[in-house]
Amino acid sequence: MILEHERHLVVEYGKKVSQNGLTEGTSGNLSMVNRAEGLFAISPSGMDYFDIQPQDVVVLKLDDASIVDGGRKPSSEWALHQAVYQAKPLASGVIHTHSTYCTTLACMQQAMVAVHYIIAACGASRVECAPYATFGTKELSENVVNSMGGANAVLLANHGIVVCGKGLGEAYALLKNMEYVAEIQWRTTCAGGAKVIDDTEMANILERFKTYGQPKKTAGR
Ligand code: 13P
Ligand code: ZN
Repeated sequence: MILEHERHLVVEYGKKVSQNGLTEGTSGNLSMVNRAEGLFAISPSGMDYFDIQPQDVVVLKLDDASIVDGGRKPSSEWALHQAVYQAKPLASGVIHTHSTYCTTLACMQQAMVAVHYIIAACGASRVECAPYATFGTKELSENVVNSMGGANAVLLANHGIVVCGKGLGEAYALLKNMEYVAEIQWRTTCAGGAKVIDDTEMANILERFKTYGQPKKTAGR
């Protein structure tokens, strides 16, 4: 089976996203790219995350999104995943979900700001909210990459969030952090508003993040 490793990871992380309450039902989708092969493996459209088998994960060409393998219809957001991989050369995993707090802010068409320092996990001090476009459209994929800027995350107006990372492990960890920051932003908004960390301190935090944790591996899971 081509892209066997990537397809297994799409299945594994799909279950994690669903089981940990980061998306509802069949909403959301995830993918992993293999740049050496010029292919990406994406979850099938509208399938329960616990029913998806590796052979259901659809393999598409990165350049023209033509289907190479997989007996299922690919996620309706295939163009969005393709666009993120084209815009972010270091990304090898992409996750899109309708997680509750990120979606709450997205429904207010509100950017995520530095209410908590951990927002720096996305590589920026702010996560923009991309303008509204219908799900599964090229327009949505364009809005997403145009709004991402230097961040590895972006909100989708009245829809949800997209994150990317070196592998699905990193993208998943970022998704968890973004959902946490979104919840804190929402809670502090309800309680009268947060005091946001200023740009100078965020620049300091972003610098420290470059060496946070254990020395980085070259390839992500
Ligand atoms: P798919 O089931 O086609 O991946 O669509 C879910 C979704 O979240 C669309 O934005
Ligand atoms: Zn969606």
